[in-house]
Amino acid sequence: MFIPDIERQTAAAIEVYQDIRLQDTLAYVSQYSSYYQRIFKDHAIDISQIKGTRDLFRLPTTSKEDIQRFHQELICVPEHQIIDYSTTSGTTGSPLVIPMTDRDIDRLAYNEYISLSCAGVTSADKVMLCTTMDKQFMAGIAYFLGIRKIGAGLIRAGVDALSTQWENIFRYQPTVLIAVPSFIIRLLEYAKANQIDFQRSSVQKIICIGEGIRRLDFSDNNISRRIKSQWSVELFSTYAATEMAAAFTECSCQRGGHHHPELVIVECLDADNRPLPPGQVGELTITTLGVEAFPLIRYKTGDLVSLSSPTCACGRNTVRVSPVIGRKQQRIKLKGTTIYPPAIANVLNANVNVKDYLILIENDELGSDAVSVFVEAVNESNTQHELQRAIKGHLRVSPKLELANIAQLRKRYQVHKKRKPVKILDRRSALQQGFFQQESQLAVV
Ligand SMILES: [Zn+2]
Repeated sequence: MFIPDIERQTAAAIEVYQDIRLQDTLAYVSQYSSYYQRIFKDHAIDISQIKGTRDLFRLPTTSKEDIQRFHQELICVPEHQIIDYSTTSGTTGSPLVIPMTDRDIDRLAYNEYISLSCAGVTSADKVMLCTTMDKQFMAGIAYFLGIRKIGAGLIRAGVDALSTQWENIFRYQPTVLIAVPSFIIRLLEYAKANQIDFQRSSVQKIICIGEGIRRLDFSDNNISRRIKSQWSVELFSTYAATEMAAAFTECSCQRGGHHHPELVIVECLDADNRPLPPGQVGELTITTLGVEAFPLIRYKTGDLVSLSSPTCACGRNTVRVSPVIGRKQQRIKLKGTTIYPPAIANVLNANVNVKDYLILIENDELGSDAVSVFVEAVNESNTQHELQRAIKGHLRVSPKLELANIAQLRKRYQVHKKRKPVKILDRRSALQQGFFQQESQLAVV
């Protein structure tokens, strides 16, 4: 069932539409997923009693651990129908494999088409993709297919040298970049050091992936301010999770990422898996719609967000998802104060002397959380002291802060070969569970 422009229907019409799609999805997993067959049986769930999204709370949630443990049982199609194996970035623990069928890839293309259209990308644009297309990165193919569907021009620049990026920008004249915000900072630093007149470039907007650019009240965070204070470009935030094979991208109003009712159902849950009212921060939980190979019911993403639903000035009536304040698993309790690593990152991102950083979270000898912040500075004099003062001022706590060579540190902790540079490394689980590696994905408060 497809309703054109469902995003602009009334909230009531969207709810009715999602209720029907949810029933279709439950019927599908009951037939093809041995995992959900077993779960529904174990919990004595009669899916005919789940009439719509209001009844979702009756269904158990699905966790990352469930995906790891019961991966094979969750696949709903025979192997010969799978044409792509994407993986998550391994933000918390080992990467998860998400298989897709031909129809799932069409769904992914449609998702990116409406997501980028939401940010105002049109067939008149030329988009330069400054991210990898390979390494089983789902977003890479999503961008390619979405831009193709829009009919815009595409330059698959990838994560090439900074000099090549500027050559490409001046040769192909892209109007839109898709890039990680901290990469844009490096691009600007390079331009300034090499007398490249970036103010005269064709770039008008940047779709910022992988790191947050807003505070919870949607104002610009430090990395966003740093880019905009130097370069006259518009920045758009986008949130994506490989497991949901969908993205929530900001419209021109920039008040949260718009949810797509034809692709996922979103919920925001408290610690006891109860839905929270709009505006309250909880765990983003999604149910995929229309996914053939690997559908998920009430999947807990681990990302802490809030939802809002009033009509947006852009005319869409869909739920909007706030910036991510942090990952649930990365909560740090430091001298009685709860903080999330993105809050520390936000302070570091404000300082022009910070070239790169690594936030290391471990357990001290008493089992309490211990945080060490390692910074590579452009100008070392005073930077350490300045940053210590800034972190204390913003967060009221003082983690240990040292100057260091970050590339060497990433090697030492064996995280130098990851798909994106590891900036937050949580080793607490390493000590407790025999594995480590948690990587920052999104969100700078
Ligand atoms: Zn809007």
